[in-house]
Amino acid sequence: MKQDKAVLVFSGGQDSTTCLYWALETFKEVIAVTFDYGQRHHLELECAKAICQELGVEHHVLDMSLLNQLAPNALTRDEIKIELGEEGQLPSTFVPGRNLLFLSFAGVLAKVKGAKHIITGVCETDFSGYPDCRDVFIKSLNVTLNLSMDDDFVIHTPLMWLNKAQTWELADKLGKFEYIREKTLTCYNGIIGDGCGECPACVLRRRGLESYLTTKGEI
Ligand SMILES: [Zn+2]
Repeated sequence: MKQDKAVLVFSGGQDSTTCLYWALETFKEVIAVTFDYGQRHHLELECAKAICQELGVEHHVLDMSLLNQLAPNALTRDEIKIELGEEGQLPSTFVPGRNLLFLSFAGVLAKVKGAKHIITGVCETDFSGYPDCRDVFIKSLNVTLNLSMDDDFVIHTPLMWLNKAQTWELADKLGKFEYIREKTLTCYNGIIGDGCGECPACVLRRRGLESYLTTKGEI
């Protein structure tokens, strides 16, 4: 695969930055694409831009404001509180159609750029109830993209079966543990690195980090 070109869906967060390093080791050329859907924290886009610039990765930011127009959610509107879903309900951070649209547009970009591979950091293990992070959805979309463009794309999901601790372990194996810990943004309150420590994204990230460091014997 080292000869091939890949398009990566990139948010500047822990997961997709780990995927970016994985992709750089796996493919000859990586093109990153970030979607602007009116995130409350514009810093997310700045963070993604800065990382790509630093690593010399071709980066595209595509306007997806229609997503916020159609489906306002806790990630784009201040007045919507971030809440974990009750049993059987989706959390308020769920954006319907997000991965369907992002991956479809990444597919279009891959077609235009002559890339066979598409990479996304979705994960079924800690999927917070998001249906579009499941393996079955990705496999189904892969078939659909191939049929729609008469191509043979391969969607890669390096994190699909990892828990958060194992994602940190992967970052460490790639030699990028510190970089990812310090320079990525996962926090819903827009605080880079270890974040605010209180929002659901920070809690999940910290739990994984602590569990990984415990396994390593560092705490
Ligand atoms: Zn936070």
